[in-house]
Amino acid sequence: MSDATTQLAGTCPECDFTIEAEDLTAGETLACPECLLTLRVDEVTPERALSLTAVEVDLRDWGQ
Ligand SMILES: [Zn+2]
Repeated sequence: MSDATTQLAGTCPECDFTIEAEDLTAGETLACPECLLTLRVDEVTPERALSLTAVEVDLRDWGQ
């Protein structure tokens, strides 16, 4: 067994919290554990760094 980790790490664009995950692929979403913002994985680099973008959640709650 290789001891190479599959751990991924990224930084929340909102609060700069370092987010670690074991297995994510581009297009998946996750919630920042710090600010609870919904983030989408734009890219997973060969260095196992996550490129994260905040997602505008469509709440359909604009007070209509
Ligand atoms: Zn955050």
